Amino acid sequence: RTAAPVLEVEGLSAAYGPVRALDGVSLQAEAGRITAVLGANGAGKTTLLRTISGLVRPTAGRVVLGGEDVTRAQVEAMVTKGMSHVPEGRGVIAELTVDENLRVGSLFRGKVGKDEFDRVYDFFPRLVERRDNPAHTLSGGERQMLVIGRALLAQPRLLLLDEPSLGLAPRIVAQIFALLRNLVDSEGLSVLLVEQNARSALSVADVGVVLNLGRVVVTDEAHRLAGDEELRHAYLGF
Ligand code: ATP
Repeated sequence: RTAAPVLEVEGLSAAYGPVRALDGVSLQAEAGRITAVLGANGAGKTTLLRTISGLVRPTAGRVVLGGEDVTRAQVEAMVTKGMSHVPEGRGVIAELTVDENLRVGSLFRGKVGKDEFDRVYDFFPRLVERRDNPAHTLSGGERQMLVIGRALLAQPRLLLLDEPSLGLAPRIVAQIFALLRNLVDSEGLSVLLVEQNARSALSVADVGVVLNLGRVVVTDEAHRLAGDEELRHAYLGF
């Protein structure tokens, strides 16, 4: 591979008061690839995403986006530089329709044309059917599609996804991950996917990074991690 990684994280550390949540984490995410960050509850996965996107200030280390050091950039600037963060919990504006929620997602990126909306609807046909329905009537899977679609309207080159599978039935998880794969393959997007559901995440990801107590235990091709029984038992819970 010759292209520079979309994201480079170097020696990133973060703490909540005395609690050290990240301890010198380094990883990369490349265009057209899904990089899964795995590990048990409390391993530091959510903190990692929040530190990359500027919500948590690192105590050490660097975040480099497309070759530019963005370690201390404001959250809003991250969005304009091409980083979109979908936090855990599928936050939508319940009273607004699907279409209106998508419009909110485009606000940070200046004028977003009809084509961009159509592109999101092309990726998520289910959302076309639900377009004029208030978001509170959506199923969990539909909501997850909506928050991903909303993030895409900021036209990111890097998408940070926190636990998209949480609380969804296995069939729906498989559906969301298949849509994600399709999106990455056709758009050359880079995805950093945080998951506790390691088995599903490794089935869709190209690369996996296993975290434990705020440190990287191992980074490898996803299929190799999935085939490592000892590692699975020790850190991945399957
Ligand atoms: P989860 O899947 O539960 O979100 P995680 O791997 O994402 O787990 P983090 O949420 O990043 O892990 O938590 C890493 C460590 O930081 C844990 O020890 C956690 O208790 C601690 N922590 C997380 N958020 C806070 C906070 N706001 N204040 C204090 N400690 C926190």
